[in-house]
Amino acid sequence: MSESQAFHRTLGLWYIGPGIGIKFFVVVEFTRQGDEMQKDIVIFPEPQELKIRKGEVAIALDMPVVISKSASELEKESAELLIKYIEDVSKKKLLLIKTDKIENKKRMILLRSLNNKKSSHKKGFSDEDGYFLKIGDEQVIIEGKNPAGVLYAVQTLIQLINFKNGILTVPEVEIKDFPDYKYRGLFIENKWGPDLMTLQDWKNLIDYMANIKLNALGIGVYGCWCVQYENKITEFLLLPFKKYPDLKTPWRIHYYSPLRKREVISDYLPEMFTRDFFDEVIAYGRKRNVIVFPYFNSAGHNTLIPRLYPDVSAKESTGVPTNYGFCLTNPKTYELLFNIYDEIIDRYLKPQGIDFFHLQLDEVYEVNGVDFKDLYRKVDPWCKCSQCSAKTKEELFIDFFIQLARHLKEKGMKKIILYADYISKIGLINESFSSRLKKENLFKEVVIDCWWYAPEISSKFPHFPSGVNNKLGLNLWVKPITCYWNWSWYGSYLNNIFNMLDKGYKEGAEGAQSYTVYDYGYHQNYYCLAEYSWNQRKKETLEQFREKYARFIFGAQWQKGKAALDELEKAVTTDEYACDHYARKLPYYFYTYVAGGHPYPRHYPQEVIESLSKEGKKYCEDIGQMIENITSAEKGFLSFKEKKTNFPRLIDCWLAECKRIKNINRELLIILEVENLRKVSSKSRQIIYKLKEALNMHNDMMAEIERVKSQYIVPGTLRNLMPMRDYLTCLLLRKNKKIAENLPGGLDKEAEV
Ligand SMILES: [Zn+2]
Repeated sequence: MSESQAFHRTLGLWYIGPGIGIKFFVVVEFTRQGDEMQKDIVIFPEPQELKIRKGEVAIALDMPVVISKSASELEKESAELLIKYIEDVSKKKLLLIKTDKIENKKRMILLRSLNNKKSSHKKGFSDEDGYFLKIGDEQVIIEGKNPAGVLYAVQTLIQLINFKNGILTVPEVEIKDFPDYKYRGLFIENKWGPDLMTLQDWKNLIDYMANIKLNALGIGVYGCWCVQYENKITEFLLLPFKKYPDLKTPWRIHYYSPLRKREVISDYLPEMFTRDFFDEVIAYGRKRNVIVFPYFNSAGHNTLIPRLYPDVSAKESTGVPTNYGFCLTNPKTYELLFNIYDEIIDRYLKPQGIDFFHLQLDEVYEVNGVDFKDLYRKVDPWCKCSQCSAKTKEELFIDFFIQLARHLKEKGMKKIILYADYISKIGLINESFSSRLKKENLFKEVVIDCWWYAPEISSKFPHFPSGVNNKLGLNLWVKPITCYWNWSWYGSYLNNIFNMLDKGYKEGAEGAQSYTVYDYGYHQNYYCLAEYSWNQRKKETLEQFREKYARFIFGAQWQKGKAALDELEKAVTTDEYACDHYARKLPYYFYTYVAGGHPYPRHYPQEVIESLSKEGKKYCEDIGQMIENITSAEKGFLSFKEKKTNFPRLIDCWLAECKRIKNINRELLIILEVENLRKVSSKSRQIIYKLKEALNMHNDMMAEIERVKSQYIVPGTLRNLMPMRDYLTCLLLRKNKKIAENLPGGLDKEAEV
């Protein structure tokens, strides 16, 4: 569901008259704004200048939407978007008029672009994509600095529309607005879920982004990691290559579906790969001023290409391919990569005028879980052939990058982006690097993208070096996190987003594109990103953002809603290093990785139970605290469940997240308790009751996840909940099948298989 759809859910209810069979159709409207919000104007992202006047203007059928005869495609799209929104809310379809003769005093909504000719803003403002919006004197006047500005003014206007008692109104305001980051958006990682996104899912995502004025969508078209599921390396390729038809990443997801009451085995190739619709995603992006471009992982954690084309793989000193990383001195490596880049550029990017290309080049280090002969062996991505060995890693890396960048520039790419972490780690973000880029005539094109996902930015790590732009003059982007591990455990990343965008702005960054998987339930993180990438001048504190967000979502009862969000936040906020938070070690996902000292596949939940027993009271207390926070969050969200709210689906998502965290925690505590009861033989019946309680809890939570999450997220998420379900079922069956079957709910047939 797109955000605008979420604003006003329509419920269709059929009643069948007794004995007659007459059907009545009842429509219930949930309008965008409640009573409270008519007084408070809440706009996301926050406009740079907002003056509120006293009155309001009624929008009715006598008010046409007027655009110029020579209006651009984007202006036309913007006008249609507005008309469609008003029609969806009120069933009133405003007329679209194309004319250049404007009668000054007429009631109308006027949309026009200055086409960058002259600015209506204060001198010195970087007002590309900016707009001026004036509502008053029975008119709505929109003046975009360019067509994108018109679109953003329309997005603001949509947020201002009130619909009450069949009447549409907008408050009289004057807004001057423009973004502080030129590029704002999301990078969608390809695992586990985005690979199943349909073309419609991508379009919905683009609409969602445009609503909050995000304009850059990166898609991870190729990425590899290590063994996690099905004894296969986690690899994803979202584009088919004509020259390399062997390159593909089929997957099997085996999960239990509570709604279908059976196990499901899904064998598939990524949707975008099978239907080859990347160009259609790019084209749709253009309609919403969203630049869509590829991320192609070109160095670190790289397995699929080197395994299938061992010629280009990094080699052991014996010459044996490692199937991990590339030989950087072999001309065949370049030939293959360039062929792939060329296919991407010629088939998808060039025809649509896209000239952004992200090479990634991050995390070039040794890993385990990639050598099938010995999953525990750490494999080095650096090639040990004689030519590679003759050079330093620094020389190899820079030469590799320069050659890739040169090629991309020759192919017409104007933004050639690489991650900061590795190049910074080897000390190469310096004067000599920027001189080299100038000498190579690549200085203008290259962008350093700093990713960092923990709440505080630590100078102990190389990920976000200072001075990239304001000392060296290099183009800088920042990459906070807005959603990940959503297949496992909810996360709030507000501190990370706030700190990254704050530092980025001070450092002169032109882009902010978060690392993410698109999961609607992570709404608050996306809004936080939109807020601070658009507006850095207001110096809004994070607490102010949180309050504003609560007002936006919950309306008059925002304090109650914010209290629930606060409790959820307490339970999931990560500590210094995002992925080391102990809570992450409770759900199954953490145990999909190979780890020294543990058998593989790892034993779940036994490993957690062991460490909980070992760590003793402290962990159990922490878990108890988390359950307390979550229960109170859940209570808060539940109170909005039956109420008229602007975001019913979001409430459902948060409730499902609460249930997942709460139930996994409670199940673990029950298993611990059962471990103790087992020592007493007479407690058999009590044990069975406990286990059955845990299993019911687990099934109930899985069903909730399946009902609420987007369909492309469901399989991967339910798969992670299978091991606990299997474990509880096995224990029950081993204990006493007969007693277990006679308990309320019995045992699922499938569970016995
Ligand atoms: Zn080599």
